[in-house]
Amino acid sequence: MTLKETAGLRKIRRERIWILVWILTYVPVVCIVKYGLHLHDVAGPVAFIWVAALLGNLARVIYSRCPRCAGLFFSTDESASVRNLLTSKCMHCGLSLKPERVMYPSLE
Ligand SMILES: [Zn+2]
Repeated sequence: MTLKETAGLRKIRRERIWILVWILTYVPVVCIVKYGLHLHDVAGPVAFIWVAALLGNLARVIYSRCPRCAGLFFSTDESASVRNLLTSKCMHCGLSLKPERVMYPSLE
């Protein structure tokens, strides 16, 4: 595995983690803004920003390219989809997202 592949996989993993961060922090942030800070007028724009950030992040993950084969990592063909978003391997060449967990790298 080359350094370029490792860096590309790290970027895909980081982008996927950000999707979870946006989802899990949405309700607490909106509640804090609305009820904790009593900024009822600001809760709508904050929610809009959160959803826009989530969708932007989701688009970056969907269109992420495999560092090895340059195909769409989470799609079986050249059209982007969210169907295989939870997979841990490239849908084209089988490159694992977590290469440190491959016991026999020569056999991947
Ligand atoms: Zn690939």
